[in-house]
Amino acid sequence: MRIDIVTVLPGLLESPFSHSILQRAQNKGLVTIEVHNLRDYSGNKHRSVDDYPYGGGAGMVMSVEPFANCIDHLRTERAYDEIIFMSPDGELLDQPMANALSLKSNLLILCGHYKGIDERIREHYVTREISIGNYVLSGGELPAAVLVDAVVRLLPGVLSDETSALSDSFQNGLVDGPVYTRPANFRGWKVPDILLSGNTPEIEKWRFEQSLERTRKRRPDMLK
Ligand code: SAH
Repeated sequence: MRIDIVTVLPGLLESPFSHSILQRAQNKGLVTIEVHNLRDYSGNKHRSVDDYPYGGGAGMVMSVEPFANCIDHLRTERAYDEIIFMSPDGELLDQPMANALSLKSNLLILCGHYKGIDERIREHYVTREISIGNYVLSGGELPAAVLVDAVVRLLPGVLSDETSALSDSFQNGLVDGPVYTRPANFRGWKVPDILLSGNTPEIEKWRFEQSLERTRKRRPDMLK
């Protein structure tokens, strides 16, 4: 998989992709993530990428030309399955969406800033708008990192235990149950006996019941 991200603040995306699972996925060649500085495509000598909003009002708007230049250039190199704009008014990111996107080959993600981006980019280039939640952040970089993490961990070979993403919350319509590791007894706080029993079918059954119970308590909406 190949993911290109366009941002005015490339530095914001350095750390999320250079640790742990996302870094390993890149080292293994399972995903290539390229971050592009929008300012390189500004088309003016001041490298500016924003301007005052037509009609007045607070906040700057990201200009149409730098995004258009950048996307046109990237599209000469490959065809994108989706051109995604991270936006608080987009479709809410959820597990099925991450699953579907993990089957794509080339994704291009655009990060907004300030008041947002010129609507013409959304009209003429963007194929999909995604929100990570009903709140407003200062920029699309953290949302882009969230989306990339959710997608990349699903690529075959990224997680060391290949089935482990499948047993995560939401994959089977339930949230995950409780998990424990050693010691079995810490200050008298004990691990449930069943987990020490070695009886795999019973343990699986217990896990499923816990998962169901937790979903019922915390996310009854998921059982409807
Ligand atoms: N004025 C806009 C918010 C701009 S916030 C509005 O009210 O809708 C600046 C940028 O941050 C946005 O263009 C978007 O790229 C990003 N952003 C902020 N919150 C987000 C969220 N919940 N999900 C995805 N992207 C978000």
